[in-house]
Amino acid sequence: MIYFDHNATAPVIREAREAWLQATEKLSGNPSSLHQPGTDAAMALDDAREKLAAMMACDPSCIIWTSGATEANNTVLHHFAHNLDPAGHIFVSAIEHPCVEESARHYFGGRVKTIPVTGEGVVDLDWLTKEIAREPPGLVAVMAANNETGVLQPWREISTLCRAYDLPYFTDAVQFLGKLPTRGLGDCDYVSGAAHKFGGPRGAGFLKIPRRSRLTPLLRGGKQEAGRRAGTENLPVIAAMLAALEVREQQLARGEHHPRQAWRDHFETQFLRAIPAATILGLNQPRLWNTVSALMPEGDRKSQWVMRLNQAGFAVSTGSACTAGKDEPSRVLAAMGCPSAHALRALRFSAGWETTAADWGALFRAMVQVYSEGRRQK
Ligand code: PLP
Repeated sequence: MIYFDHNATAPVIREAREAWLQATEKLSGNPSSLHQPGTDAAMALDDAREKLAAMMACDPSCIIWTSGATEANNTVLHHFAHNLDPAGHIFVSAIEHPCVEESARHYFGGRVKTIPVTGEGVVDLDWLTKEIAREPPGLVAVMAANNETGVLQPWREISTLCRAYDLPYFTDAVQFLGKLPTRGLGDCDYVSGAAHKFGGPRGAGFLKIPRRSRLTPLLRGGKQEAGRRAGTENLPVIAAMLAALEVREQQLARGEHHPRQAWRDHFETQFLRAIPAATILGLNQPRLWNTVSALMPEGDRKSQWVMRLNQAGFAVSTGSACTAGKDEPSRVLAAMGCPSAHALRALRFSAGWETTAADWGALFRAMVQVYSEGRRQK
């Protein structure tokens, strides 16, 4: 099976597996215990925290380990729900992952103002600039890169804008981390990440918060993470997450993403030539180098394509892992002005660092074959 669903979950890489094994076998103490095995585990935890803080250019005390991005993102909304003026409103982009969007609605209800996106899937910075000046919100939430389209969001500009107004800015960097350099991300006040998107294990994530911020914990009942997240830290998955992220940062520093972007671009050119009735979302925007979000020609439902490609040996997706399998139009595509009938034809191909030019070529040929068979049957 050739795997094109890395935006859902990427396979665990060797370095992460080894770090997990090492921590499991050699660091079996509880980091909160005072004896030697506990102290060894606590030191390893600190080491991982320092490494991540160095990548994000923030103080290690700003890093909180979580079970993943869903928990990290819920923690942010929960914190603001408890600390903002009860009448205050927040700005949340129209293309956030459900774990941001739904928790924002849960805690803030009608006090959530949606930041619109353009037809190409980029947050409308003009709208945001005007609205911030008109009625400053208590929080601005805009992700770093979209999980369905791969379109990069102007998080640097938003961070600067929020700073000018002294507003907290939260960016879900789950899809960005490990695909593009973390440099600068630490300037955003709140940043979340999840290991399983870049070669680390599932069940590991983090939240970066501002220095000296008094976070209201989502999970209570323990003094771990300086009282900001109760529960024994899962050291093996944290160590594995850092090992994977370090590998990705090194690959990025060597520019290894550039040829991979060229393979993806070549696939898109060939694909549009062979199936001209298809379109690619966000085609002219800066995007993650691994993602293609395609609207297939009319009459082709996305789940049928996924099944046919699966039979041909390719794992692809209909969009977000949360809505995959349901023939429902995506909220992200709706926000981009895509009519729901069109959005039902959306497919997402997301490559990984291990995906080769030959894999993209094989996917292209399979697409053409499935397309021709479908036409013959009509
Ligand atoms: N945020 C984004 C942008 C995502 O793509 C995902 C997962 O697909 C999440 C948050 C949630 O991550 P997890 O399911 O690992 O908690």
